[in-house]
Amino acid sequence: MAKRPTKYVFVTGGVLSGLGKGITAASIGNLLKARGLNVNIQKCDPYLNVDAGTLNPAEHGECYVTVDGAETDLDLGHYERFLDQELTRTSSLMSGRVLQQVIDGERSGDYLGKTVQFIPHVTDAIQKQIQAAAEGYDIHIVEIGGTVGDYEGLSFLEAIRELSFQAGEGNSLFVHVVYLPYLGASKEFKTKPAQNAVKDLRGLGISPDVLVVRSEEPAEESVVRKLSLFSGVYPNAISLLPNAKTIYEVPLTLEDTGIAQVIVDKLSLKSKRPSLSSWRSVVERATTNYEKTVTVGLVAKYLDNQDTYMSVVEALQSAAMWNNVNIHIKWINAEKLDGAGGKPASGALKGCDGVVVPGGFGTRALEGKIKVAQYALKKGVPYLGLCLGLQMAVVAAARNGGIKDATSAEINPNAEHQVIHTMADQHGLENTGGTMRLGNYNCHLEKSSRSAKLYGSTKIAERHRHRYECNNAYRDSYEGWGIRPVGINPENNLVEVIEGVDHPFFVASQFHPEFSSRPNRPNPLFRGFIKALLR
Ligand code: GLN
Repeated sequence: MAKRPTKYVFVTGGVLSGLGKGITAASIGNLLKARGLNVNIQKCDPYLNVDAGTLNPAEHGECYVTVDGAETDLDLGHYERFLDQELTRTSSLMSGRVLQQVIDGERSGDYLGKTVQFIPHVTDAIQKQIQAAAEGYDIHIVEIGGTVGDYEGLSFLEAIRELSFQAGEGNSLFVHVVYLPYLGASKEFKTKPAQNAVKDLRGLGISPDVLVVRSEEPAEESVVRKLSLFSGVYPNAISLLPNAKTIYEVPLTLEDTGIAQVIVDKLSLKSKRPSLSSWRSVVERATTNYEKTVTVGLVAKYLDNQDTYMSVVEALQSAAMWNNVNIHIKWINAEKLDGAGGKPASGALKGCDGVVVPGGFGTRALEGKIKVAQYALKKGVPYLGLCLGLQMAVVAAARNGGIKDATSAEINPNAEHQVIHTMADQHGLENTGGTMRLGNYNCHLEKSSRSAKLYGSTKIAERHRHRYECNNAYRDSYEGWGIRPVGINPENNLVEVIEGVDHPFFVASQFHPEFSSRPNRPNPLFRGFIKALLR
């Protein structure tokens, strides 16, 4: 029997950016998966970057890491959390990678002397990457980053237009996410920007099958009639999507508008009745006001854009709701801490039940993070360290233990006591690509450790993204400094997890546990951390 071809759902956006196109794509994936379909999802970003590894997180938001070590856009984090599914590098495609491939091909003579052009060569390369990601799935969702009309996005839009045509009638569908502004002066919703956005898409040869209409407040149904008439999309395929209390509500709102069924019908997919009960319980938990509230200090370098720590915040929130508490996150500016020339850690942590030191790169604000870890270790303040948060905890323990000038090679590569360092084969390559540990690595946990108990296993694998490691020459001293190396990578004999000795909760990992955390299954370290705050 011939294999059924994968069907495509293409998601584009109009009017303006920041509408939640990624959440919409992820929510559609959630609803199709809930119907028993085998779904993949991919983000196409028109930036000229090759991947998100070098993008400034303050500007672009968190760099999310897949199990196979791709450094991607934060939308992949939403995808994984909404689909409860591990994605791979095929789910992230940036223009830079496509162009690099085409130019490399040109240099090695792949184009047989032809003129190399955006159409068909770049568009073909894009299509191949999309088809490769779609292989083996019932349905493949492709989100095109940016807004229709952006100069950079044109090759992607042409590529999906052609791909849809080649896939044949009934095998693909276009969802366009548009904005519906409310005009206070005349007290009405205005559909013109949305109509124009549909026109822009049509101008590129793509007619939307489904419209998702974002607004701040709920809009009246008459808007649907008007939009339908002027944009040529049937009313049953238009979803009104006002701001939600929590992003997790979006799949349920979309389900109520019936568009998932429209998609299934239009693509003639064989599917079950949607099973949404477990997702409903996520939404219920996320919107419950619990009796107790815990306050967690998040020691951050970037405070003006919370997207920078997206997965950490998500993991903390899920862990809190599964412990039946509200969470208040107190943002602590690491640069304003003692050691960075500011307030002592005791003052900054006032009112906090516990503290999280998340990942980060560069030397800025590290002394402040070390001071917080020193204080937490000494005073029994619950501490969760994530990657850099482990490295600073080891430096802190060493300093508490008497090595006053203990440091990390990232701070001072010439220091005498580098308790965190680069390994011999990385020396001199610190600022180049290719020397990072990226993606999943194994970790063996000591059976009696708190972490093993939390995971319910001594063998785990979690995602990494870092260059520096614990210096094994100091490992025997840990116990004397008040910490223990309880998780080791068996292949490279590298420290993966440390815990405080006789401490209410001092756990830090070289990996990033936030990336594997899901709203329905918070990562065990986060869950244990919040639980410790309740004692
Ligand atoms: N800058 C540190 C390193 O490269 C930590 C990185 C991180 O926290 N992701 O090792």
